[in-house]
Amino acid sequence: MQTLTIPIKSPKELPKLVFPQTCLNCGQPKAGTRGISLDVSPSSSKRSIFLELEPPLCTACIALENRLEWFSLLTFTISAFVLGGLTFLMLFLFLPVSDLWDWLGIETFRRSWLASTTLAGAGALLVAVVGGTVTELVVKTLASTWYGRLLAARPLTIFSLLSESQDVVGLRAQLTPDKKALVLTFEQDAIAAEFVVLNGLVGKD
Ligand SMILES: [Zn+2]
Repeated sequence: MQTLTIPIKSPKELPKLVFPQTCLNCGQPKAGTRGISLDVSPSSSKRSIFLELEPPLCTACIALENRLEWFSLLTFTISAFVLGGLTFLMLFLFLPVSDLWDWLGIETFRRSWLASTTLAGAGALLVAVVGGTVTELVVKTLASTWYGRLLAARPLTIFSLLSESQDVVGLRAQLTPDKKALVLTFEQDAIAAEFVVLNGLVGKD
């Protein structure tokens, strides 16, 4: 495993990175790429600027990547969506008839459509994030028996969303918190070495 740090001068001057023509994970000939895009726009900017990466993978590893996604990102997204939707519906129906408003001392809000919707939305979001993460954790733990280290090494979706990191088999791409550098972690040292040469990174590290 090898980590490379590539400086990003500014969102207008993004590094153009070239990947080797072999699979990042196993070194087989490249069959396709898995797009990664990282938001490099400064927080002050309204427009989003993305740094696009095209990491190469072989046929087998693309299939593997697809399966891994089912146990992380998709599990989180689908369960968060379903749980959030159900919670919203339940809260929306329950809030107008609950004693919560009296308890909070704002019973005048009981008939307010806006107050019910806002509160139901906030509750739904909380349940979606927590429920999605718990579901992902459970599914991941079960699936780790078959996919082992690869899946276990992948951060929970909520953390990768917060830290802006993206994983494909053989590679993790991440921005530093100040967005001034791209951090690439290669599973295979040989591929990392080839990447260093291809992009003329020698001596800059
Ligand atoms: Zn491969």
